[in-house]
Amino acid sequence: MTRSDTDLATVAVAEDAFVVHRTGSPLPDAQREAALAQPKFGTVFTDHMARATWTAGDGWHDRRVERYGPLQLDPAAAVLHYGQEIFEGLKAYRHDDGSVWTFRPWANAARFAASAYRIALPELPQEDFLGAITALVRTDAAWVPGGEEMSLYLRPFMYASERFLGVRPSLEAEFLVIASPVGPYFAGGVQPVSIWVAQDFHRAGAGGTGAAKFGGNYAGSLLPQQVAHAKGFDQVCFLDAATNSVLEELGGMNVFVVEADGRVSTPELTGSILEGVTRSSILRLLSDAGHEVAERRIPLDEVRAGLADGRVAEVFACGTAAVVTPIGRLAGDDFDLTVGDGTSGPVTTRIRAQLTDIQYGRAADPHGWMHRLI
Ligand SMILES: *Cc1c(COP(=O)(O)O)cnc(C)c1O
Repeated sequence: MTRSDTDLATVAVAEDAFVVHRTGSPLPDAQREAALAQPKFGTVFTDHMARATWTAGDGWHDRRVERYGPLQLDPAAAVLHYGQEIFEGLKAYRHDDGSVWTFRPWANAARFAASAYRIALPELPQEDFLGAITALVRTDAAWVPGGEEMSLYLRPFMYASERFLGVRPSLEAEFLVIASPVGPYFAGGVQPVSIWVAQDFHRAGAGGTGAAKFGGNYAGSLLPQQVAHAKGFDQVCFLDAATNSVLEELGGMNVFVVEADGRVSTPELTGSILEGVTRSSILRLLSDAGHEVAERRIPLDEVRAGLADGRVAEVFACGTAAVVTPIGRLAGDDFDLTVGDGTSGPVTTRIRAQLTDIQYGRAADPHGWMHRLI
């Protein structure tokens, strides 16, 4: 995160710049309530979407909220050929008093701008990022669920829309925000996941796109993920491409290692790791709680030895969607290890509760991370 949340909170929010065109046919109340009662991640979307258009000549314009629906795309649109696309992910939380909040949205706005730079898409002003989210959530306020671990998942994204097959940055782009109600990631309580450490595939390399929230990084992680599933594992952990020996991250989550003496480490940002908002928040909260925390190089061999002799007590993954996910089993071509007793350890359980308590307004927000939308 380039600037602190407090600095960024002083940036004006341009929600008024987004002109709201309400749909005349929103989903009937009963159907919306039914969808909110049983949300399935990323399958149901709200009545509207926020949108802005960019052209090299006119810059960003046509900021609007309009009916959710299919996009019109020319078959020669650059994104369909060269994959010029970036995205973000954050949530809107309803607190017990009915107010609606997001968590560190300025960090997502800053990261979106950094991702745009790396993929040669136009930078979206951070106040437009916040303005789009604010306007959409206010328009679709009835879609923000209340209740235990329920939220409205927000998916900002941008793609190259110019009709041109030449290989150069697109001169036209579309920015959108869509929203999907989500329930607890783990229905029936937090479940540890099993991780396959990929030794034949990498998600990112030095000088590549790993630090950008770029759709192509995900496309490249799907085959390794499929291979791991076929072996009976839930997720993949990638190693660095240069030495194939140092932990990087999962396809969409950062990773932490907790030692029995309370020290906590996460892979340092080398340029090939995505800097998660959850990651940086956890580093802060653990350090506040008196843990010695380190962003460092974590060799797989060290984790294997530590799991075998008990020095490594817990391993967990983190990201906006699942918050904190305990890792119960770590395996690769020539090893298969249980982490602790295979369930969520105390540091993992506590940090997850601490973070969600702040997000849902059940605990004080000592760092000013929450931003009120409604
Ligand atoms: C989004 C993402 C994360 C987690 O980031 P958060 O800001 O915590 O949601 C981690 N790794 C990758 C590759 C990601 O795309």
